[in-house]
Amino acid sequence: MERAALLRSLTCSPLACNAFLFRSSALRFSRTSLSPLSRSSSSFAPKCHRLIPHPTGRTLLRRSLLAATSSASCLNLRKRLSSLSTRAVATPPTHTSQEFVGARDEVAEKLGFEKVSEEFVGECKSRAVLYKHEKTGAEVMSVSNSDENKVFGVVFRTPPKDSTGIPHILEHSVLCGSRKYPLKEPFVELLKGSLHTFLNAFTYPDRTCYPVASTNTKDFYNLVDVYLDAVFFPKCVEDFHTFQQEGWHYELNNPSEDISYKGVVFNEMKGVYSQPDNILGRTAQQALFPDNTYGVDSGGDPQVIPKLTFEQFKEFHRKYYHPSNARIWFYGDDDPNERLRILSEYLDMFDASSAPNESKIEPQKLFSDPVRIVEKYPAGEGGDLKKKNMVCLNWLLSDKPLDLETELTLGFLDHLMLGTPASPLRKILLESGLGEAIVGGGVEDELLQPQFSIGLKGVSEPDIEKVEELIMSTLAKLAEEGFDADAVEASMNTIEFSLRENNTGSFPRGLSLMLRSIGKWIYDMDPFAPLKYEKPLMALKARIAEEGSKAVFSPLLEKFILKNPHRVTIEMQPDPDKASRDEEAEKEILENVKASMTEEDLAELARATQELRLKQETPDPPEALRSVPSLSLQDIPKEPIRIPTEVGDINGVKVLQHDLFTNDVLYTEVVFNMGTLKQELLPLVPLFCQSLLEMGTEDLTFVQLNQLIGRKTGGISVYPFTSSVRGREDPCSYMVVRGKAMAERAEDLFSLVNRVLQEVQFTDRQRFKQFVSQSKARMENRLRGSGHGIVAARMGAKLNVAGWISEQMGGISYLEFLQSLEEKVDQDWAGISSSLEEIRKSLLSRNGCLVNLTADGKILTNSEKFVSRFIDSLPSSSLVETTNWNARLHSSNEAIVIPTQVNYVGKAANIYETGYQLDGSAHVISNYISNTWLWDRVRVSGGAYGGFCNFDTHSGVFSFLSYRDPNLLKTLDVYDGTGDFLRGLEMDDDTLTKAIIGTIGDVDSYQLPDAKGYSSMLRYLLGITEEERQRRREEILSTRMQDFREFADAIESVKNKGVVAAVASLDDVEAALKECSNFFQIKKAL
Ligand SMILES: [Zn+2]
Repeated sequence: MERAALLRSLTCSPLACNAFLFRSSALRFSRTSLSPLSRSSSSFAPKCHRLIPHPTGRTLLRRSLLAATSSASCLNLRKRLSSLSTRAVATPPTHTSQEFVGARDEVAEKLGFEKVSEEFVGECKSRAVLYKHEKTGAEVMSVSNSDENKVFGVVFRTPPKDSTGIPHILEHSVLCGSRKYPLKEPFVELLKGSLHTFLNAFTYPDRTCYPVASTNTKDFYNLVDVYLDAVFFPKCVEDFHTFQQEGWHYELNNPSEDISYKGVVFNEMKGVYSQPDNILGRTAQQALFPDNTYGVDSGGDPQVIPKLTFEQFKEFHRKYYHPSNARIWFYGDDDPNERLRILSEYLDMFDASSAPNESKIEPQKLFSDPVRIVEKYPAGEGGDLKKKNMVCLNWLLSDKPLDLETELTLGFLDHLMLGTPASPLRKILLESGLGEAIVGGGVEDELLQPQFSIGLKGVSEPDIEKVEELIMSTLAKLAEEGFDADAVEASMNTIEFSLRENNTGSFPRGLSLMLRSIGKWIYDMDPFAPLKYEKPLMALKARIAEEGSKAVFSPLLEKFILKNPHRVTIEMQPDPDKASRDEEAEKEILENVKASMTEEDLAELARATQELRLKQETPDPPEALRSVPSLSLQDIPKEPIRIPTEVGDINGVKVLQHDLFTNDVLYTEVVFNMGTLKQELLPLVPLFCQSLLEMGTEDLTFVQLNQLIGRKTGGISVYPFTSSVRGREDPCSYMVVRGKAMAERAEDLFSLVNRVLQEVQFTDRQRFKQFVSQSKARMENRLRGSGHGIVAARMGAKLNVAGWISEQMGGISYLEFLQSLEEKVDQDWAGISSSLEEIRKSLLSRNGCLVNLTADGKILTNSEKFVSRFIDSLPSSSLVETTNWNARLHSSNEAIVIPTQVNYVGKAANIYETGYQLDGSAHVISNYISNTWLWDRVRVSGGAYGGFCNFDTHSGVFSFLSYRDPNLLKTLDVYDGTGDFLRGLEMDDDTLTKAIIGTIGDVDSYQLPDAKGYSSMLRYLLGITEEERQRRREEILSTRMQDFREFADAIESVKNKGVVAAVASLDDVEAALKECSNFFQIKKAL
């Protein structure tokens, strides 16, 4: 996903990153990314295909940040509702007079659009008009309000009939050049040179979405035009090479070598198919829907992808990428007439087609009997295979779409059962000791028919049946006994809070709304209804108050789950041979292909391979590049975005205050210096943080504490933050306590933060043991799914102390620590418990503390007394000498071996050590390297899903990373060629300007008020002044070609002295060692 986010990590603000993790749409992000709980994402999470996830250098920070926004997280309802309101939109649009409406309707009519309906949606303070394009039947939602973060999206219904991955490959391919923009990848040009606040594309099981966003109107319309031209007039339908590159092709460099498969989607999906949680989700979806389009994989099964032909691919585009089959969304403060004018230019070129009938999704009929499926997944040989089974129960809830009221109630029920660690179904499953972590996503309602799934992983075979029984009996018990009143109140408050706050992170609010609306609209239902939650929510609240929660929820549990025979039980067994068997099978197919070819065929294939590569590596001609519209430097503000920050002092503690409009929400961070902590205690810190929130105090069980937090606040979270500081040896390392509440609850918020910090008791061994196994499961999942993050952390640990600390708390070292801790919990709980106490004693001091507050001025003033009381309650131990953690991992090259079909390859060095002095141009250059050299060589011709670089300006570490990469040593060669690439670079002024503008777009990334306050705090902690930000900006704006050449010398040190780390398959590592003996030390991790 967000490569933009990755690039943004370069900016002076370590926080300027996108709250949008891989494979999560707005609809899902509460669960997959905002949630601190590890609920697996099921297979139909849309594939966020164009861009890749952010590597860990900052992922730890990001993750903790994300967790921070949702600690009392409202998983499902948040998912369902948070996307619905738009608080930033403070005032209703001004154009509401009758006269204006009349004039607008007239314009629409002239442009060929018929108004279907119009509403003012109070929840998002927007006027929304639904139009139908008369000639083609294309539907358009035009949403007007005062939100400057404008959003456009075009969505097609694209149900596949097989698992060749057509929709997914097409999603990649249409952005590879079009009629008006005949370059290799206009998408990349936009990434490089626009101010977008969002740019990506997603494939769902039944639809494909192309959204863009920007706060700059001119930029916004540029993006819209490129996207419209891409979807309706792509070059890929005539260009076999694009199909080969993005989909699949045989690669043969030399007739004497073996043939291999290549293709961006092919490798991306190999990565997906290497992750057990994904396999589980996909198996469940396909088994729940054996008879309709959801029974196949729209992303593509690597074993089936090579069956796809170019003819089928072209036909799919012709049929479904048609205005008659399109739903188009506009949102924001721009001129609604201009939107229709742009659209009519495209839509008028088409006539109506029969696509809407052909793309209809047929509902799945309900089974009369439950089904059971046993599936294998690729496992490593490490660990106890006997305890690696997964079991998950899945239900299809209804044979047709549900009405919104029922959906809302189900979402609420889901939150009650699973939303927080204190929720009964979740708690009982984890406390049973039958498994390590929860799998299954609870209620899912993104497809035509809703489902429910829940299970456990890390289960031993004899316990599988027990897990099933426990799930069924717990659900029955909940139906019979109902829910605790405090729990219902906590859920209600959490849901209402998140609706009111509507914190979509850096995900544009308008996009969040679009995805919500499209969830019904795509099935020909009312697109307005999902935007209007107020009434059904109030009705639900009233019903609960009147009839009691049991009367509301029990019948739903009975009907949709307990008495519903459409149940699929999936059992997944670890198979240490599966990865190599799949590998063998692929090899055999390819050998047969080769055997069936004549010598001429082989020569031809080698020639075609060469031709494709040449084409991929030939830069676009300048005139083609100029076709992509871009801003000029005059359009760019000369000054950085300033965040109001007042630095003060309350009772000897630094307090930062940010006066920003927050719609009555108070955001706070309290940070404690970790510099006093003993080195050996570091790996315990993440578990210490979790214990604070989930262990309970003397008078409150953890369930009560959790409910109290849910009832009184918008959530509290605790996590470590570590970064290098430029020009300083010792790192900046803090424990951050983050919380938020409505202004009138400020007192409760600070008193709860205080209780969490001071009163929680580290006495519950059983719960601690669960934390350990959950964390271990989460780390294993990351290792498979985000190996680049693990690689980045590992290289960091070899290069500097901050990296070493982060790796202790989130890398391979942490995983190893967790593995050994699991046993230790039983043998020496007293020792662990006293270590946790020791951490508290070291951290909890007024001396190393700082408080950050973000809200409107009046709220800030009113909160001061609570802050002061809070500070007074902190112990003021005389500051112990800061510990000197002068630790690093050995700097040898390392290969971390796991069962996988794709690799993650990294190389890094500290370029400050060569004498390089930071200059703003480094941001531009590093972006440029990612978007050109690495994109072309690692992704386009290398066949990896992604390749990019990252420059941590705080530590000086410059790192290269690849993502889901079929290669290993070859990728390293590409990295090593970067210096020569920079030296040989020729660039015209337009290209340079674009690179500068794109970098400014990253630096100025869109932030909601809480993120602004947080960024400002981090800058304060890292010693980044406003003067420095201004200077860096000027340096960015005045970047010259000369800077690129000079940077080449600095980057040469990565080639010469860099350290290499990779997460890779044993086969590939062994092959690499054959070629280059002793190159890697091997570490087996799973
Ligand atoms: Zn993709």
